[in-house]
Amino acid sequence: MPHSATPAHDSTGLSAVQIALRGVRNHCPRCDHKPLFARYLKPVERCACCGQDWTLHQADDFPAYIAIFISGHLLAPVLIAAGSRELLPMGVLALVAIIGALLLTIALLQPAKGAVIALQYHWRMHGFGEKEAAAPGKPD
Ligand SMILES: [Zn+2]
Repeated sequence: MPHSATPAHDSTGLSAVQIALRGVRNHCPRCDHKPLFARYLKPVERCACCGQDWTLHQADDFPAYIAIFISGHLLAPVLIAAGSRELLPMGVLALVAIIGALLLTIALLQPAKGAVIALQYHWRMHGFGEKEAAAPGKPD
């Protein structure tokens, strides 16, 4: 029995990475229709194209962890290099670090949440599989 621990349930045959990239691009993970988000971090209740219910996700704090993790790994080498060569005064460097971290985290938060929602859908987490099994392809 191959790969029973990582089920790919959607009929598109796409991999988890391809589904996640749909979420990153603010597209519906199921049908690739835009948008996945009605507001900055608020997903649409149902996809306007396929009718998938996106209220079933439970992304919680995980997108914030992802955004902070990526922001830190992008900023750290720049700040270490600038600090060790004394290119900027420490006050300016601290200001650059704070503003850079805020802007990067804010910019990465929605794509990270889109990826998390898409992967929860792909792996049938948090009720995604239950709703589809009850009424496949149809809105309630
Ligand atoms: Zn859709």
